[in-house]
Amino acid sequence: MTFPFWVAGKPVTSNETTVVRHSFDGSEAGSHYVPGPSEVEAAVQAAADVADEFATLPAHVRAGALDHISRRLSERAEEIAQLITAESGKPLKWSRGEVGRAVSTFRWASEEARRFSGDLQRLDTDPGGTGRLALVRRVPRGPVLGITPFNFPLNLVAHKVAPAIAVGAPIVLKPAPATPLTALLLGEILAETDLPAGSWSILPLGNEATAELVKAPRLPVVSFTGSVPVGWAIRDSVPRKHVALELGGNGAVLVCPDWTDLDFAAQRIATFAMYQAGQSCISVQRVYAHTDVYDELQRKVLEQVAALRTGNPREDGVDVGPLVNEAAASRVESWVSDAVVAGAKLLAGGGRSGATVEPTVLSEVPEDVSVMADEVFGPVVSLVRVSSVDDGVERINASRFGLQTGVFTRDLPTAFDVSARLKVGGVLVGDVPSFRADQMPYGGVKDSGVGREGPAAAMADFTEERVTVLTGL
Ligand code: NAD
Repeated sequence: MTFPFWVAGKPVTSNETTVVRHSFDGSEAGSHYVPGPSEVEAAVQAAADVADEFATLPAHVRAGALDHISRRLSERAEEIAQLITAESGKPLKWSRGEVGRAVSTFRWASEEARRFSGDLQRLDTDPGGTGRLALVRRVPRGPVLGITPFNFPLNLVAHKVAPAIAVGAPIVLKPAPATPLTALLLGEILAETDLPAGSWSILPLGNEATAELVKAPRLPVVSFTGSVPVGWAIRDSVPRKHVALELGGNGAVLVCPDWTDLDFAAQRIATFAMYQAGQSCISVQRVYAHTDVYDELQRKVLEQVAALRTGNPREDGVDVGPLVNEAAASRVESWVSDAVVAGAKLLAGGGRSGATVEPTVLSEVPEDVSVMADEVFGPVVSLVRVSSVDDGVERINASRFGLQTGVFTRDLPTAFDVSARLKVGGVLVGDVPSFRADQMPYGGVKDSGVGREGPAAAMADFTEERVTVLTGL
């Protein structure tokens, strides 16, 4: 099937098409029409034209549209999960999970749209303000350009589209070139709503055209999820725009000496180091385990990793599928070899077949090699023995990234102390860093980005305060 793209809520075809391929076997996942400059211009102008009307659309209309989208995603869940797997290569069970998350992201946004309001501030706290009251409203900053990565083709799109609809900000969505089809299918569901024409467009553009689009003054907000260098380059290219960046990381786990359930810790570490073949921004990449528990943990992690099934992601029961393409797999393979050359021990995996990398476990890895210091984005985990909790915290904080960290402890003072000291956007106590509830504020510090997502956080981000001072009260 050749998917149309969407301009101002309408399906559009063109003379150019692109085929999207399955990374496991190169089969065709589908294709789509490619927008040209005139269609891009039409989408941007429509967003600008509708901005005032959309901002004043009643909340019940916006919330009703979001409810509809959530319900229809749920009704079409299996079809959408199959498409996610076809274009991204992620195992079906994770694709099904992603659809379920998007259903809830839109539902949360509808609930937030009903509550989203402003504030009333008394100004008579000083004599000059006597008889005055401030009404503080949140109004959209303007049309949003949402740019998304390949690894969650639906739910990360939902995290741009849903909050934009919830606050009444028009959105031009630019899905990832490797996985644009699911976003284009979402367009079919958006088109069933009575949101005003112009309030949304979906443009499957390449990187160069997107870099140009970023500069369009009529899109004053850029909400970007993707890689670190691209994200910061975008921010540098448009210093006067409001830019939110959800970028990468090298997720760490700290296993404290009091943690006794090493079966659970090992199962969570193995699962979420290899989850989506490691292609999640909060996958487990580094494990700092206290020396009291290290040996047993390592043994159990290796058992768990050995039990994972690697293969065709379309088959039920497969845990680890291919990476997004062979080039990515080849890069991961070479990073593992570099680590071994630098002195790391290869405990499991290390091999590659096409775009599929074997689940790989390393130990004794120097901190400065890429599998530790950079974002692997592949099924590779490094185990590190630490002498104390403080040692682990220091090493985790030495990273240039700071998205989420998992801390296995049952000791509350340790949990509070460590979570206060870790320089990351979120700390998961009793779990790996790979958990994200879609309603919670989510995002990173340092190279990992700026701003927070989650419907409520993104709604705040897409809007600004407008004050009306009432005098003579
Ligand atoms: P990417 O940066 O290559 O691409 C992301 C998007 O940016 C795509 O839509 C792409 O077309 C666009 N793009 C690329 N070059 C551009 C340019 N010069 N100007 C404007 N847009 C451009 O990332 P990816 O490989 O698709 O995704 C993987 C990355 O995303 C990883 O680093 C991962 O950690 C990160 N990620 C972060 C989160 C988060 O919430 N923090 C979630 C998922 C993925």
